[in-house]
Amino acid sequence: MTSGSRNKRPVLIVGGGIGGLSCALALARGGFGSLVLEQSRQFGEIGVGLHVAPNALNVLRALGVEAAAKRHALLIERIVLKDAVSGDTVLDIDCGNDFVARFGNHYAVAHRADVHGALLEACRADAKVQLRTEARVVGFDIVDNAVTVRLASGEVLNGSALVGADGIDSSVRKVLLDDGDAVPCGAVIYRAVIPKADMPKDLQHPYPIVWAGPGTHLIYYPIRDWSQFNVGATVVTGEQRPQQDEHASAAEVLSHFRLNCETPLHVLGIPKQFRRWLIRHREPVGDWTRGPVTLLGDAAHPMVQYAAQGAAQALEDSLCLAAAADHTGGDFPAAFQKYQQIRIVRSARVQISSSMLDLVLHAAGVRRLVRNSVFAGRTQNDHYERLAWLYETPKYSFS
Ligand SMILES: Cc1cc2nc3c(=O)[nH]c(=O)nc-3n(C[C@H](O)[C@H](O)[C@H](O)COP(=O)(O)OP(=O)(O)OC[C@H]3O[C@@H](n4cnc5c(N)ncnc54)[C@H](O)[C@@H]3O)c2cc1C
Repeated sequence: MTSGSRNKRPVLIVGGGIGGLSCALALARGGFGSLVLEQSRQFGEIGVGLHVAPNALNVLRALGVEAAAKRHALLIERIVLKDAVSGDTVLDIDCGNDFVARFGNHYAVAHRADVHGALLEACRADAKVQLRTEARVVGFDIVDNAVTVRLASGEVLNGSALVGADGIDSSVRKVLLDDGDAVPCGAVIYRAVIPKADMPKDLQHPYPIVWAGPGTHLIYYPIRDWSQFNVGATVVTGEQRPQQDEHASAAEVLSHFRLNCETPLHVLGIPKQFRRWLIRHREPVGDWTRGPVTLLGDAAHPMVQYAAQGAAQALEDSLCLAAAADHTGGDFPAAFQKYQQIRIVRSARVQISSSMLDLVLHAAGVRRLVRNSVFAGRTQNDHYERLAWLYETPKYSFS
């Protein structure tokens, strides 16, 4: 094990996504050594744009990587929701000084690789974190309150504990909970990236715009120092199975947005091709720990992306888990119980709230008019009050 760590054997972390890397870093900041096992040939992120809400940025600050994560990010001025049928503004949340004062940080949009890259760089710089690629975990055993892990190569590794940060199809979860696969939520997302030059000047805004239409919503925003625009178009299709070809033509996407007004249709007409993802999630569970083995991030609480909080919740998990490890002096079974006891209700609330946003983002007919009337007349302070439970970062120090 790396010298200077509080634990003799490393905490084995399965998965090197935002969840796994932030967990390794948080543990290292508390003096604990870990070994991150990533199945891919290199560490990286699939997908493009990422909303980084203040609760996520505050965790990145606590981990010492806020500046690096923000380097190419856009600190947005506002969040705007428009009615895609009428073109009216339904919601306009100011993310300026009052927002920052209230929630302790900005709201950023970034390229996924920039946030993941900031965590990776910090992990590489910390001797308490060991990183391995091409290390697919295929099984584990709990022996005397410690853990033995088996890799696909046949290699066996010993650790003081195991954290399954292996995403929505977590194999660690399969062993712990045996609760089947994540289920489709009945919607797909079409994603594309377009060069800035292709976006008309009058549609280039320093913030994301969400166009909420009947059974659809479109979001777009600048990334990577304004060099590109990230476009995400969600459609409630009722689909329960991934299609064979994940590439989709602009015509296929546009066919779902017929009821939208001119501006969203214009934006959707820009990319030549999209990529299609089936959106999946799970119902919250009340237990995701067994002795020295626990889950974190999407492995524990995968959610639909409507609140843009999955990665944020993985980051919060990491801070909480490391604080619990610190509090228990490295008694990982006790720490993991404390961690899940604290995290289950909050992460479940975010999972449930994310699913409920379907009512806001995809409302049709009279429901759409009700939605608009519910938001009408809200002040900035009203917005902040309603978002406080989510954007105020929980304090996980336990000391
Ligand atoms: C369309 C979409 C948009 C989203 N937008 C946002 C957003 O704006 N803001 C936000 O906060 N969240 C967003 N999310 C959610 C966010 O992407 C996830 O919640 C987050 O990436 C989860 O991180 P993770 O580390 O838990 O899992 P993952 O990112 O899935 O990482 C898991 C890692 O484990 C590895 N792995 C898997 N199995 C094994 C194994 N057996 N052995 C070794 N390694 C293994 C994988 O290769 C992978 O690297 C969005 C999600 C979607 C689908």
